[in-house]
Amino acid sequence: MLAVGITGGIGSGKSAAADRFAELGVPVIDADVIARQIVEPGRPACKKVIEVFGAEFATADGGLDRSKLRKMVFSVPEKKTQLESILHPEIHAEILRQLSDLSAPYAIVVIPLLAEGNRTYPLDRVLVIDAPAKLQIDRVSNRDNESAQEVERIIHLQATRKDRLEMADDVISNTGTKQSLRNSVDELHSKYLTIADDMGD
Ligand code: ADP
Repeated sequence: MLAVGITGGIGSGKSAAADRFAELGVPVIDADVIARQIVEPGRPACKKVIEVFGAEFATADGGLDRSKLRKMVFSVPEKKTQLESILHPEIHAEILRQLSDLSAPYAIVVIPLLAEGNRTYPLDRVLVIDAPAKLQIDRVSNRDNESAQEVERIIHLQATRKDRLEMADDVISNTGTKQSLRNSVDELHSKYLTIADDMGD
């Protein structure tokens, strides 16, 4: 099974691209959804985080107080590394488990923050959806009713376009219409099917 990661900055068009892959029948796994699932109450990663960081990070139902954790790791970088060392192996294992349950030539794994953190995901290729900041701002302002300043602030917190492009095996420059994005995905779909087919030989 060929695993293709999709990443890109906020509003670059990751979800729109993933939606098109899904329309073509490609299974799509979302790393953000997995990151939430693995810390659900009672799951090993949830227990481990509470064990390491303390009961004050548990919610009443035994889950994780994600916003409290976010605040802590934001102010203490070592804690961020420590938290990631608990969560990443679990996320990777869960991605691999979900991939192994699939029977398709290839699958898409959407990983919004691939360039920002630990890059060692179980992927065969990385597809970067690229767009200039101006378009990111316009699109997110429209999508989320967010101010341009807020979107700009998030863009600055994220990896640079250059960093992201350096890790790309494939790039979609999402500067045209939605139809041209769909066309680019359709082309890559053929390419990935060929690669997956060659892997099977
Ligand atoms: P991401 O998942 O990377 O944050 P989205 O896929 O949600 O970004 O795209 C951000 C917004 O821009 C969405 O409302 C989406 O429909 C829109 N969008 C994406 N690509 C295009 C495009 N090529 N033309 C116009 N709108 C687009």
